Formats: sequence, C-alpha cells, structure tokens
Amino acid sequence: MVHVDARRFEERMRGRVVRASSPQGRFDDGAAALDGRTLTRTEAYGKNLFLRFSVPRGASGPRAKPWLLVHLGLIGGWRWYDAAARQTDGRRLRGADGSNRRVLLQAGRGEHAVSVDLRGAITCRLVDDGEADLVLSRLGADPLRADADPDSAYATIQRSQSALGTLLLRQDVVAGAGLIWRCEAPFLAGVAPQRLGRDVSAQEWSALWGHLAGIMAAAVDRGGAEVTTLRADRPPGTRRVRREDAFYLFRRGGERCRVCGTRIRSEPMGGRTVWWCPTCQPG
Ligand SMILES: [Zn+2]
Repeated sequence: MVHVDARRFEERMRGRVVRASSPQGRFDDGAAALDGRTLTRTEAYGKNLFLRFSVPRGASGPRAKPWLLVHLGLIGGWRWYDAAARQTDGRRLRGADGSNRRVLLQAGRGEHAVSVDLRGAITCRLVDDGEADLVLSRLGADPLRADADPDSAYATIQRSQSALGTLLLRQDVVAGAGLIWRCEAPFLAGVAPQRLGRDVSAQEWSALWGHLAGIMAAAVDRGGAEVTTLRADRPPGTRRVRREDAFYLFRRGGERCRVCGTRIRSEPMGGRTVWWCPTCQPG
C-alpha cells in the first residue's frame, strides 16, 4: 500500500541527504538530478507516491523539479535494506540479480545507513508542482487522507449508471481503493456491488465511505497486511490471522458467508471479479 511506503520514507529518510542511482540505467538522468538532495516531504495520494526533495539554489532542468512521482502498477515494489544490506521490508525476490533496480536511494552512513530500491513500477519520474497538481486533479477522494472529500466522490456516484463495484475501482472516483476494498466495504455496508451508482443513498454512501476508510487505515497500521474480518468472525484459537480467514468475500466464491452461512457468489465486473453475499447484500 502506497500509504505504508510513504510512512516508511517519512520515518527513515525524511530530512536526510539522499544518494540516488539507477543500477538498471533506465532512470540515470532522474537519479543524477536527485543525487545529493534532501528528502523534505512524503505524500501518498491514491496509488501515487510523491517524494519531495530540496531544490538546490540556481538549479534548472530536472534538478529544479521537486517531486519524484512513483506509481507501482501491479508488479512494482519498494524493498528496504538495513545498514548490513539485509532486506527489512518489501516483497522477497527469488534469484534477483539487481539488474532491474530502477532506482536505488541511500541515506546515512555506517550503522545509520538505510537504503531502498524500486523495481517494476509503471511510473517513476521527476515532476514540478504544476505536473504534480495535474496528476492530483485527475484523482478522486482518497479514504486514507484526512483532507479527502467524500462528497465529491458521492456527486460522481449519484450521477452514474454504472454499478457501485465498478465505480469503486475508478481512481477518479475513489483514489486507492483496489479489488479487495471494492468487495469488502459494500459487504460491511450491506449494499450489493451491482447497485447502480445513482441508486446509492447518501446514508449508504456515508456508511460505505466509513468502512472503506476504516479497513484501509487498519491495513496501513498493519504494515500493509489486509484484514477485514473481526475476531468474532474468524475461527477461534488462531493467534495470527491466516490468509484464508482475512476476508469476508475476497476470493471466497462458493464458500459460506461468515455472517449468515449463505454461499458467496462471484461474477466479472469492470474486468475483474467481484464477490458478494446475496443475503447480507440483498440489493
Ligand atoms: Zn451473508
């Protein structure tokens, strides 16, 4: 989750001078423009990470652009390493040779050193304030941001003849809500994902937004581990939450609903699978 990435940058690199390189070579110019600058701010917005760097006096061209904008896409990821070059966070790589590291950022020396690399991202570029604003202007409300405006998302939903489950995946409606959340939040709110946007009441939207914000924030607090089930709805006696117990609906087609026992159904919606409980989400 991008908000988890932002939090790690905030804790580990903000305020520090960063050495930048592009081992893979595809970001050579950008890395050269970032090298030696200080990370001053981190912002997550939907699936976009904005890292702000100091701008050297008199800088021009790429060195005058304050933001590094990264969108991971489906396979991209950051991997963090401690001073001993041991990986501490991020998906493990099998047989990695390092040649696909788009960016390598390092801060500190000796035991205080920390580094992070980026692989597989669909966007990694330097942008100025205007370009950053343009990206933001195309994004809907992000349930994880305190400055989010759920009313603007509802205004779009209320005008739409698309299904709720499709609307929740549109980044210009709700920024950052992925496949898991578009299933689990409507379940918690008791609304079927097939409901057309224009038929969602303000009260239902308010409940949906609250659940989206709640389950996404809980995942950020768990370092990105997605769990929506309450303890009471999981099998007793398991201390760690097992993957198969983490969700009410996600990837549980044909299994029993944890709340009412009805078989969970699934169908394609908006190019991806959606799951729902016909009893808990009657319409
Ligand atoms: Zn149910």
